Parts: sequence; C-alpha cells; structure tokens
Amino acid sequence: MGLRFLNTLRRELETFEPLSPGKATIYGCGPTVYGHAHIGNFRTFLFYDLVHRYLAWKGLRVRFVMNLTDVDDKTIKAAKAAGLTLSEYTRPYAESVIAESDILGIRRLERYPRATMYISEMLWLVGRLLERGLAYRTEDGSVFYDISAFPEYGKLSGTDLEAGRQGERVVDDDYGKDDVRDFALWKGVKPGDDEVGAAWDTPWGKGRPGWHLECSAMALSELGQTLDLHLGGEDLIFPHHEDEIAQSEGATGLPFARFWLHVKHLRVEGKKMSKSAGNFITVRQLLEEGVSPAAIRHQLISAQYRNDLNFTREGLEGSSKAVGRLLDFEERLAGHPVRPDAASTSLPALSDEAVASFTRSMDDDLNVSGGLAALFVFLNRTNTLLDATPALAESERNRALAVLASLDEVLGLLEVGHRARNVDGALEEWIEERIQARTRARSEQDWAAADAIRQELAGRGIVLEDGSAGTRWKVSPHNG
Ligand code: AMP
Ligand code: ZN
Repeated sequence: MGLRFLNTLRRELETFEPLSPGKATIYGCGPTVYGHAHIGNFRTFLFYDLVHRYLAWKGLRVRFVMNLTDVDDKTIKAAKAAGLTLSEYTRPYAESVIAESDILGIRRLERYPRATMYISEMLWLVGRLLERGLAYRTEDGSVFYDISAFPEYGKLSGTDLEAGRQGERVVDDDYGKDDVRDFALWKGVKPGDDEVGAAWDTPWGKGRPGWHLECSAMALSELGQTLDLHLGGEDLIFPHHEDEIAQSEGATGLPFARFWLHVKHLRVEGKKMSKSAGNFITVRQLLEEGVSPAAIRHQLISAQYRNDLNFTREGLEGSSKAVGRLLDFEERLAGHPVRPDAASTSLPALSDEAVASFTRSMDDDLNVSGGLAALFVFLNRTNTLLDATPALAESERNRALAVLASLDEVLGLLEVGHRARNVDGALEEWIEERIQARTRARSEQDWAAADAIRQELAGRGIVLEDGSAGTRWKVSPHNG
C-alpha cells in the first residue's frame, strides 16, 4: 500500500502520487507576522515539517514553500498603532518565527516568500481575473472577485453559497460589493496606509492586496500552476483556501492544488487557546521557561494531524521523558559490546519490523502516533534483547542504529534532543561567548539582541540566571 492522504477536496483517502514522478511541490500557509507565533501555529508548522521530511524520506525531491504574511488587516493595524512601517514592524516577528522553527528542528525551506515582495505578481493576477470577467472594480479603487462567475466556488469546503460567507476570517471592510459573498482581491487605500508603507500604485488606483490573493500569487509564482499539496490549519478551509482556488483556477484554468491537507486546531489544557482564556502560549515563552525543544516537538507532533491534540503541562513532562528514553536507548545501543563471534539474534528482524510498521502508519495519512508507537516498540524489545545479550555482532548493532537514525530523519526527536545533551567543552565556550555578547547588548540597551541571544541559548537547552554577580547558566532541568 502506498502513501494515502485524506484529501479535504474530496473528503476521502486518496493515494498520493506526485504530478511529476520523483518530485513534489508543496505550499503551506505561513504565519501572519504581527506577533510571536503560538504553539497552535507550531502544531501546524511541525506538521508541515513532517510532511516535508516524510516525502523526502520516501525518496521524493520536495520543493516546499511557506509564505510569511507581512501585509494584511492585522499587520497594518499593528504597525499603525506602533508608529512603524510595515517592514519595520514585521521584521522581528518574521525573524523570530524562523529562529523558533530552527530550534524545534523544522527543516529550513528553500523559500519563505513575503507577501510584500510579490506585489507585481498579485497585480498580474488581478489584471488577469478582470480580463476574464471574474472580477470587478468598485469606486473606492478596490477589486472584488465575482464568485457568481466561478461555478465551482465552494468545492473545497462544501460551502452552501446561499448560506453566505460565515467563515471566522472574513474581514469587515469589504464595502461596495455587488454581492455580500464576493471577496476583495485588492483593497483601495485607507487613511494611514501610505504612512506605514501599505499602499501601492496600480492601474486602478492606490491600494493593497487582500490576504487570499497573496497566497495565490506566491504559490503560483514559486511552484507553478498546479501544486501537489497545499497545507494549512483547518480554519483556513473557508474562506481562505476556497478563495485561493477561485483566484488561481480562475486565472490559469488549471487545477490549483491536487491534495489539500488541513490540521486540526490545537487545544491547551482542554480549551480553545485564546488570549482571553489566559491559555495563550508561545514557543518563545516555553523556551524561556527552560522547556526542552525536543519535548515541545514531541508533544506537538504526537497526534495525527486531523485528530485532537491537547497540549498540557503533564503531557509535556511525558514528552520530555519519552525523548530522554530515546536518547538513553541510542546511547545504550551504540555502546553495547560487539564481538566477531557473537551469535545472531532477533535484532535484524526487530529492525526490519520497526521500519515496516513505521512506514505502514505514516503511509496511512501520516499517522504519527502509530509511527511513534512503532519506534517505542522497537526500543522496548531491543532493550529486553540487550538485557539478555552480553555482546552483539557488529553488523546487527549497526543496522539497528541505522534504523533508529533513519526513523529520526522523519521524527527529528534525537536530532533536536542531541543538541541539548551535548554540552561539551566547545559548547561551553560557545555559551560563554554568547553570554558575553548578551551582556554587551544589554549594556548598549539593545534589548532585542539580548533577548534573541537568551532565546538562542534556550534553544540549546541552556537557561540563564541574571544575578548581582553576573549571568550564570545551567542546563535546563527539563532536558530530554
Ligand atoms: P496565522 O498566523 O493566524 O495566519 O496562522 C498560521 C497558521 O497556523 C495557519 O495555517 C493557521 O491555520 C494555523 N493555526 C492557527 N491557530 C492554530 C491552532 N490553534 N492550532 C493549529 N494551527 C493553528
Ligand atoms: Zn494562505
């Protein structure tokens, strides 16, 4: 059985074959960089990473693009309030989401397109939709998509058009539309937009892009007219992704994305995460508390993406233990005595079974909890075997180690866990150097730089304590 995904587009499990053999193109909707990303966002970004790693593990050459939304209602409002330009306001958040992604072991992508760098592509798209009679202009310089001209509208979300646009993310400033269900491709300039750098000249007046348009333009120009996979959180199905389809397919006449995968929203201590409920947690906060990156990674990937995942402090403890067991196991296996005349054992069979069972689970719509179970069954059985086997044949041991490393190419738990465990001489020197750099930054009152260094250290499992005698460091007690 090959790899299957539950495709939101058809609401059924479908076998995944990329359009061009051996290669896959993926677009994931990225963060709106108006604040620090929260752990819910990171459930989604870690899921993207899992898709990326798993497809690469299966031998595909993956082109993965995740955008950064640096112009939309929220970023403009926040930049105006802070008295900064959009780029001044969003840059630190764009940097921090990538830094935190690194810390959690999310593979670096080739491209993180920022919406503001794709204005000409967006204008092309709007022009094309106007030309094709799928969009219309209004007096204030806005351009709207005419959804009555795109009969397939609603095919992703199964939305009943007569019921109107009831999505959570509908913006409130779409005035002048022919039909309440139409959405803005381009928005006429508003007071203050120009000052923050959120207004561009266009053939239909000054204005700025609508959020949906941004993703279509970036996906099409970075990855081509038909993507293999388009990913996002479940809140984006409607209207965001529905609108991306209408725009992209309206402009190209070709299917936009063949597979759509949507991640269920993370809950925190059993509740929907929100600032008002007081359970809004950022990754940055957890790192500053000294929680290990590997534990965060483990907890956030531990459930299959369409299933509920409830983030809890207790769960985090469990995750920390799980990563610790993995690291111990690897160390034990690597250090187990070998002998040329050692009798053969069932270790090769256990190793093969681990790969087969892991692949079976992951092929089944990325059932990562099954994948993790396969890994831990391997760990338990091998531990039992090592208890009873004073020495192994070297080839058996190496094969088992290779299997462990191979599964970790997908899971990334040892990869992230190692960084915290390896506090050796070179690392100590590096820590001291970073602390000095931070002290310098603080004396220059460059709080952002000082903060970034603290976070960088936290990412390696190092917590700082500032006292009267200077700054001391220690390895986080929660480390793997
Ligand atoms: P945003 O920065 O709000 O545009 O979101 C960036 C990504 O995170 C999108 O794919 C969202 O669907 C996703 N997302 C937002 N909130 C959550 C949550 N609580 N759990 C999982 N994913 C989320
Ligand atoms: Zn998007």
